[in-house]
Amino acid sequence: PAQRQRATLRTTPGPGGCMGGGDVQVYVRCRPVLQEEEEDQVSVLSFTQDTNRVQVNHGSGHVFQYTGVFEPASKQEEVFSHAVAPLLKKVQEGGHCTVLACGHTGSGKSYTIGTHSGNVREEEGILQRAIRTLLRLNEPGISLDSSLDDGQTQQKRSHDHLTISMLEVYNETIYDLLTPTRKTVSSKNTFGGGLEVMGAVKKEVQCVEEGMAVLEKGTLSRSTTSTSENQHSSRSHAVISLTLPSIRGGGLLKLVDLAGSECAGRVGSSSTTTFNEGISINKSLLTLGKVLNALTAPTPIYVPYRECVLTRLLKDSLCGSGQTVMVACVTPASASLGQTLTTLRYAQQATHIKLRPLPPPP
Ligand code: ADP
Ligand code: MG
Repeated sequence: PAQRQRATLRTTPGPGGCMGGGDVQVYVRCRPVLQEEEEDQVSVLSFTQDTNRVQVNHGSGHVFQYTGVFEPASKQEEVFSHAVAPLLKKVQEGGHCTVLACGHTGSGKSYTIGTHSGNVREEEGILQRAIRTLLRLNEPGISLDSSLDDGQTQQKRSHDHLTISMLEVYNETIYDLLTPTRKTVSSKNTFGGGLEVMGAVKKEVQCVEEGMAVLEKGTLSRSTTSTSENQHSSRSHAVISLTLPSIRGGGLLKLVDLAGSECAGRVGSSSTTTFNEGISINKSLLTLGKVLNALTAPTPIYVPYRECVLTRLLKDSLCGSGQTVMVACVTPASASLGQTLTTLRYAQQATHIKLRPLPPPP
């Protein structure tokens, strides 16, 4: 049945296996081998950072090329300054930008985005670093400021606060992670198949400490409201929005920690709940795959944004009105080679995506 299909994209290689010339910047990040894995795992990937290539040291020895690759030794700061800092510049000018993290469960999506609690400063993810930067209290060494010209510096001074919203999409329902009871959120349709969330909490924060406290609360709410927290967070999508209300155009950075890609194929169980979960997770990852697929077609074809809540929520990010970065997370472990290859192919195909602006409303 269709539900059994995986959310894989077409895997036609780009010309000469090179970068696809699309509009989404696609980075691959490989996490290090974890302590508990060390004994029986062999690294199956090698990286050439200067040519942005990943080679699979197994079978056909396939080589993939992306906008950038981060090898296991890469630090959070490197990922942030290469893949995200350029977007923040756009956000500070009123742009709407998105970072999507994909990959199988355990590949490092939440670590990269920053949606798990208890990080020491060096290990802070994109979220924490973005908040620090947008509130102008960035660590020395991340030199976003130095790249801004006078006019932008002037504009930058005007935003002394930002707002944070944290949503979770689970079983085609949107939950507000910043309400005490993780309330469901209603939404209304927008022109062209998008979705506008109604009445979700937008916490205004003036300083980094406030920002970190909000993140902590939302992250905790995501992991503790479920009896099986790991399963829960690997099956849901987290969508966190940082907005600069004082900027014309309302600068927006959306960070998306997607469900584990292995969930795309998981359907069916004796338990009704699990069965429904399977279908809707499958549906949203499958639909995201279909949307990205349609966006790589050589000529414009129908893009099925409307088919699930996730793609409707992300519609603005996927239609050319902003800039989008994908961070595809993988592990070097031989045990997850199958999943890793799926992610590498998915990410390769994403390098061909052409974001198409919406036609003007009638
Ligand atoms: P996912 O969200 O994709 O399921 P996590 O982000 O939870 O994966 O990562 C799985 C485990 O690997 C966690 O214990 C996390 O701390 C660790 N980890 C992930 N990426 C890195 C990294 N780049 N460096 C060190 N540890 C990492
Ligand atoms: Mg996670």
